[in-house]
Amino acid sequence: MSKFEGILSYQRLDARLRELEKEIEKSEDYKRATAAKEAYSDAKKRAEISEQRAGDVVAHFDKLGNIYADTLKRLEELELNVLPNGLTEENAEKYKTQINKLNERLSAIEKELNAIGQRNDEIARINEDARKSGTRSRGVFNESKEKFEAFKKEREPTMDELRAQLDKMSKGIDKKLFDAYQALRKDRVLPAFVTLERPNSCSGCRMEISMQSVSKLKADGTVECENCRRIIYSSDG
Ligand SMILES: [Zn+2]
Repeated sequence: MSKFEGILSYQRLDARLRELEKEIEKSEDYKRATAAKEAYSDAKKRAEISEQRAGDVVAHFDKLGNIYADTLKRLEELELNVLPNGLTEENAEKYKTQINKLNERLSAIEKELNAIGQRNDEIARINEDARKSGTRSRGVFNESKEKFEAFKKEREPTMDELRAQLDKMSKGIDKKLFDAYQALRKDRVLPAFVTLERPNSCSGCRMEISMQSVSKLKADGTVECENCRRIIYSSDG
């Protein structure tokens, strides 16, 4: 009895389970649900990013607002200073320059605040779009999931039966072989265990394997195909 007999029987039975899984995955409702789920998480991400940006904008807005208030205060102080003392010829130029500078600064800040306001509106729009699109996707997801669950439910008893049989069968299988099988199954590289196609190709992907792999196969009884990662097993082993 070949030491691969256990895993090979498992693989044969599991192929039936995989067929049923494929049938479900191929259903339009499953595809729609999967796509909607992705769209929903994209929209959620967009909403989160725009919320974060909105927070940054608000912080920037507040900071600028403080600078504006400070500048305004300095301007007022300057004016208060000038009024009681009156403008003399010598200080007139100095004050004028200072006041002009502060006024220029104020209008620059005003401009920037305006731009921030616009940016904020834009972010709010992006956020709203993302939220709407998220809600839409969630609706599509729920609706198609329901249909797809009904489709799945019809096949569930057979699948459960197969799973129970497979579980029972797995107990007698070499752990290393079983784990290798499950890793490949997870990536849908099936069948996972294949024979060598004479003289030295992988019968899973038809690619020729290296001489080194051929030696390893002879020595160990198994070797991983360098191309498709399937386990090539020695049928004489
Ligand atoms: Zn291969």
